[in-house]
Amino acid sequence: MKLDSKIPAGPLAEKWTKHKFNVKLVNPANKRKYDVIVVGTGLAGASAAASLAELGYNVKSFCFQDSPRRAHSIAAQGGINAAKNYQNDGDSVFRLFYDTIKGGDYRSREGNVHRLAEVSVNIIDQCVAQGVPFARDYGGLLANRSFGGAQVSRTFYAKGQTGQQLLLGAYSALSRQVANGKVKMYPRTEMLDLVMVDGKARGIVARNLITGEIESHSAHAVLLCTGGYGNVFFLSTNAMGSNVTAAWRAHRKGALFANPCFTQIHPTCIPVHGDFQSKLTLMSESLRNDGRVWVPKDKATAEKVRKGQVKPADIAEADRDYYLERKYPSFGNLVPRDVASRNAKDVCDDGKGVGSTGLAVYLDFADAIKRDGEDTIRAKYGNLFDMYQQIVGENPYKTPMMIYPAVHYTMGGLWVDYNLQTNVPGLYALGEANFSDHGANRLGASALMQGLADGYFVIPYTLGDYLAQNPADKISTDHPAFKEAETGVKSQIEKLLSINGKKPVDQFHKELGHIMWDYCGMSRTAEGLKKAKKMVQELRDEFWKDVKVVGTADELNMSLEKANRVADFLELGELMIDDALNRNESCGGHFREEYQTEEGEAKRDDENYSYVAAWEYNGPGKATLHKEDLVFENVKLTQRSYK
Ligand SMILES: Cc1cc2nc3c(=O)[nH]c(=O)nc-3n(C[C@H](O)[C@H](O)[C@H](O)COP(=O)(O)OP(=O)(O)OC[C@H]3O[C@@H](n4cnc5c(N)ncnc54)[C@H](O)[C@@H]3O)c2cc1C
Repeated sequence: MKLDSKIPAGPLAEKWTKHKFNVKLVNPANKRKYDVIVVGTGLAGASAAASLAELGYNVKSFCFQDSPRRAHSIAAQGGINAAKNYQNDGDSVFRLFYDTIKGGDYRSREGNVHRLAEVSVNIIDQCVAQGVPFARDYGGLLANRSFGGAQVSRTFYAKGQTGQQLLLGAYSALSRQVANGKVKMYPRTEMLDLVMVDGKARGIVARNLITGEIESHSAHAVLLCTGGYGNVFFLSTNAMGSNVTAAWRAHRKGALFANPCFTQIHPTCIPVHGDFQSKLTLMSESLRNDGRVWVPKDKATAEKVRKGQVKPADIAEADRDYYLERKYPSFGNLVPRDVASRNAKDVCDDGKGVGSTGLAVYLDFADAIKRDGEDTIRAKYGNLFDMYQQIVGENPYKTPMMIYPAVHYTMGGLWVDYNLQTNVPGLYALGEANFSDHGANRLGASALMQGLADGYFVIPYTLGDYLAQNPADKISTDHPAFKEAETGVKSQIEKLLSINGKKPVDQFHKELGHIMWDYCGMSRTAEGLKKAKKMVQELRDEFWKDVKVVGTADELNMSLEKANRVADFLELGELMIDDALNRNESCGGHFREEYQTEEGEAKRDDENYSYVAAWEYNGPGKATLHKEDLVFENVKLTQRSYK
């Protein structure tokens, strides 16, 4: 299979402008003849559905939550990047482009990333026009703060609730179209299959989560805006419901899955505190603007801290190791996430970790409070501090926070071309569900930017180009392709309910998570990955023999919902392992212990692995690799350095 990224020719900065002019248009009177399914109502889905309906298309919008406003995007805390250069600190579209390519360890496409940087500035204007209450400085202008991997301040924010405010903006735009009759909402409805007719995506089969009814919906194009798959690790900062099912079912129907092993482990999360925990909590990266990361310099002191014999405040400055500031003086505490996470793991592995488990480092605000005052710190991060205090039971204004890396975001996802179209005609993937813009490591505050870029500014052009070249003929859900997909969905549900084994779904999920974290998490080896592959295969076999799914098919049944999702995670897990095994290099969040520099940093192999790994489904555990070579014409590939 030849993968065509469809990156337009010409100078980098002109590609998108030219492409927008060259794409075909659907005239206003014809737009109402086309139906578009948008699965997902997070920032990517809500912005896409609202924008397409505003243009005149008929949109059907799906989510599994009871309200579109509950999409996982609402959890986003720290901010959204944009190359506005309001700070006059040297930012530009090219610098945001460059930081993103470098941050992703040179494993993303130049064309996509430059477009993202270009439209970033429009996103802020759009959101301000919608009334999103971004933080402002004393003079009333929009304020900025810094995020990792950048030496400029370009992150726009609304306290520690940026995702919530942005989603309310997108939701308002969506609601306007619901009221206009251009968007029909289907909450509590879960897509369980993609329907293809004549090789094109023409609809979905979904389950009404309240009644259990299996429904078919037809359209001229299907957009998957279904978020990331970090919950394959069981414990992650993602919302509990986040899953891979929509993308995976599309993958099973032929859509390629790209770079599945590129997972982001976020350095600042509240450490795991027990075996019965089912969720991890993020402490936003924005805290690294003011918080200083450290551990005790020697192991004996760390041991005393762990036993509760010494308090952090009792440790003298000279006995602390501010290891990020020491190792990376230029970027200090604001190194990118992959670098900060690996360093936290290293110091803990070295016996210098704190907290009762030894798997924690300090994030200390004492200096910032002394410098700026507690009120200033409260105004910036108050809700995050409150959250920390409620969960940990310690006051972070008085004693340093404890943090440890946790699974947070997935850079991999469905393969898409420049138009955000998968290799299946008529099937698009937006937001975290696609693989496109972040390479092997996403920079902080760039996911919200990408989701909204895709939904507000890219898909309105590129989808029109596809629809203009396809007839507006409606297709009935009585078509055999719909009936076949419905039968497949129903028979999987019946199978899950009929096993009646002994082990609950969550137990399988937890065991899968342990395998993934231990062998395909923050660091990986060929040996460990091979072992993990076998373990996942065995767990999957056991699942299909011994899972216990309670209840029936025709009712609200969360055990059944989870079983469907975990069944897909059990296949995805193996693909992630295959992908990590295939990539004999380290890059960004993919750290293979065999490939590291003398200083312990990720060592790429550009000669052999400068490609997107796009996998084709051939049955569980069987995938064929297709490569899209990455072409760099505007940046020079170098060993990433944040020193
Ligand atoms: C705690 C936390 C904080 C974060 N903070 C930031 C930040 O400050 N800045 C930043 O840039 N990024 C941040 N991120 C990342 C960012 O929030 C996400 O990457 C982004 O919100 C994903 O948006 P999305 O629209 O792609 O998907 P989501 O918001 O995950 O939405 C997915 C949608 O798809 C629907 N869906 C999924 N599967 C199905 C199905 N089968 N059928 C029907 N509907 C389905 C869901 O119902 C939901 O509506 C954070 C992430 C976390 C976990």
